[in-house]
Amino acid sequence: MSVTIHIPLQQLKAPERASVWVKRDDMIDPYISGNKWRKLKYILEGALASGRRHLVTFGGAYSNHLVAVAAACARNGLRSTAFVRGEMAENEMLLLCRLYGMELRFTDRLAYKDKRGLFERHFGGDAEACFVDEGGAGTPAVLGCAELVTELPPDTRHLFCAAGTGTTAAGLLKGIRETGMDTLLHVVPVLKGGEFIRAEIARYTDGLDRLVLHTAYHFGGYARTSPELTQFIGRFAAAEGILTDPVYTGKLFFALEDLLSQGRFAADEKIVVVHTGGLLGIWGMKEKFSVL
Ligand SMILES: *Cc1c(COP(=O)(O)O)cnc(C)c1O
Repeated sequence: MSVTIHIPLQQLKAPERASVWVKRDDMIDPYISGNKWRKLKYILEGALASGRRHLVTFGGAYSNHLVAVAAACARNGLRSTAFVRGEMAENEMLLLCRLYGMELRFTDRLAYKDKRGLFERHFGGDAEACFVDEGGAGTPAVLGCAELVTELPPDTRHLFCAAGTGTTAAGLLKGIRETGMDTLLHVVPVLKGGEFIRAEIARYTDGLDRLVLHTAYHFGGYARTSPELTQFIGRFAAAEGILTDPVYTGKLFFALEDLLSQGRFAADEKIVVVHTGGLLGIWGMKEKFSVL
């Protein structure tokens, strides 16, 4: 995985969005999606360096992280196992996981809560097994995400990203700090009560004076959506040729659109939005698009 990646920056077409550029991390790979690739980079390198050839991880039945781990492991000759939250399920994402050779272990919600315990019970005696937390959360993931900042135009004034756990956002803020760029990080939490992201980011980096949280764009909570959001996703894809998903980047671009319409940024301030991928999430919400 130690390759240099050159991800394009794409300027948006609509005149009212002329100051906005999209960092197309969704183009890194169709299945090792965007930020999941960046989060996995040092996890994979660490596992390979220490001779652990089996990644054991955790996620829900529609987890972008699970697909990314399955694909990345297959590509690097590693085994992968996932504890999947909830009862046995079949869907597009789990199908991809199985195609990439991942072993799926469906786990009831109570047992799932104790991830370390699960790992110890099932793989504690396996010297090749490597624990990878849900979503890849942890310091290696933060370091991988921080690298994105070195690929940005130096005059980036506002950097936008969506947040689930906040690990990606923590990495971006750390990167901004380390490069000394004069950039503000705007974070759009996709969960309700997104203020918790601030404390999560503070676990990994300082510089919180450069952080702007926009907590009003969760649409009811994680994986919740509304006709307003799905219609926006359709309009945006048709106008700009960029797909977004209802769980993460749809909410992110909706927030940006709203802030732009409020005239929150000067026309000469460069805005870069990180497209973190996750487009498979559309398949988990097909029926929500019937309003289009
Ligand atoms: C997982 C994911 C996120 C959330 O990343 P965190 O580091 O957990 O905040 C954002 N966007 C997409 C597309 C994702 O798949």
